[in-house]
Amino acid sequence: MEEKQNLFGLDVAALQERLVPLGVQKFRAKQVAQWMYEKGARSFGAMTNLSKALREELAASFEIATPAAQDVLVSKDGKTEKFLLAFADGTAVESVLMRQPYGNSICISTQAGCAMGCAFCASTLHGRARDLTAAEMLGEVFFIEERLRGEGQHVDTMVLMGSGEPLMNYENVVAFLHLVHDPAILGMSYRSITLSTSGIVPNIYRLADEGLPVSLSISLHAPEDALRSELMPINKKYPMADVIAAGKMYGDKTKRRVTYEYILIDGRNDSSRHADELAKLLRGQLASVNLIPINPVVERHLLRPPQERIDAFERRLAKRGIAVTVRREMGTDINAACGQLRNRHLETQA
Ligand code: SAH
Repeated sequence: MEEKQNLFGLDVAALQERLVPLGVQKFRAKQVAQWMYEKGARSFGAMTNLSKALREELAASFEIATPAAQDVLVSKDGKTEKFLLAFADGTAVESVLMRQPYGNSICISTQAGCAMGCAFCASTLHGRARDLTAAEMLGEVFFIEERLRGEGQHVDTMVLMGSGEPLMNYENVVAFLHLVHDPAILGMSYRSITLSTSGIVPNIYRLADEGLPVSLSISLHAPEDALRSELMPINKKYPMADVIAAGKMYGDKTKRRVTYEYILIDGRNDSSRHADELAKLLRGQLASVNLIPINPVVERHLLRPPQERIDAFERRLAKRGIAVTVRREMGTDINAACGQLRNRHLETQA
C-alpha cells in the first residue's frame, strides 16, 4: 500500500500543488487550510463544505498527521505544562507552555535530541536522533494552540529553546517560521518569536539576510574561549569572538536587541572577574544578558550558585552599563528544563 501524503504543514500554495492535479478546484485548497488550521479538523470527513465524494477522494490519498501526547506534566502552580509529543515514526520531543504575566509563551524543540554536546544540557545526553520537519514543528505549536483555543486563549510568544540546535536544522526551521507567520496558518508576528542558538556563526549571517525579524538569543555561558570550549564544544569550531561579531551584525541589521544567555554555574563562571569580562565583551552592543541559574546536573557537579552570588553578578553587570535580567524559573518541579522528560522516557524504554 502506498503511504498517504500528509497535508498538515502545507500552506495554501503547496496544497494547491497537491490538489489541483487531481482535478480539485483551486479554491478548495483554501478551504482545506481553514479546516486544518482554523477549525482543528484532523480528518477529511469533518470538512462539511466539501462534497462527500471529494472528502472520500482526499481521504484515499492524504492524511492530516499531527503529533500525539505521550506524557503531560503540569507544575504545582498550574502555570507550566510540559508535553512529550510523538510523531508518526515514534520519535518524541518536548514542548512547553508557560503562562506568563505577559501572555502564553511556548518553547518548541527543533531536533529530537541534540548533537552539540554542551556539558550542562540534558537534551544532548543521547545525541541527536534526527532533525524535525517544518510540519512537525508546526504540529508542536498547534498541539498547544488548540488546547488554548479550548479556553478562549492563544499562543502569544514562542521561543525555539527546546531540544536541538535550530541553526543546525536551518532550512526546516526557516520554513517553519514562514508557516507560523502565514496568516492562513497562524499569523504570528516574527517579533514575538525568539530563536536561540549555541552560535552557529555562518547561519547567524544567513538568518540576518532572510528578512525575518525574529529575535536572536545567543547561548554564551562563558566570557572567554577556554572555559566556553569546556562547556560548549561548538566553541572550538566557532570561537567566541566570531559568535559575538555575528551577534553584533544581527543586532545592527535587524535593529533587534540580541540577548546573550548566560547560565550561572557554581564556581565555574560566576565570579566577579567573569562578570567584568562579560561586560567588557558586550559593551556598546545592542544587547542584553539573561542570567539563568543552572538547572543542576548533579552527575556532572554543575550546581546552582548561592543566591548572593547570582545577585552580585547581576549588580556588577548592571553597574557596568549592561542591560541584565535573571530568568524567572518556571516548572522546575516538572523538569521543564531541556530534555529531561524525554530522557526519562528513553531510559525507561531501554
Ligand atoms: N541549542 C540552542 C537552543 C536550545 S537550548 C541553544 O543552545 O541556545 C536553550 C537554552 O537552555 C540555552 O541557552 C541552553 O544553554 C539552556 N540550557 C541548557 N541546559 C540547561 C540547564 N541545565 N540549566 C539552565 N539552562 C540550560
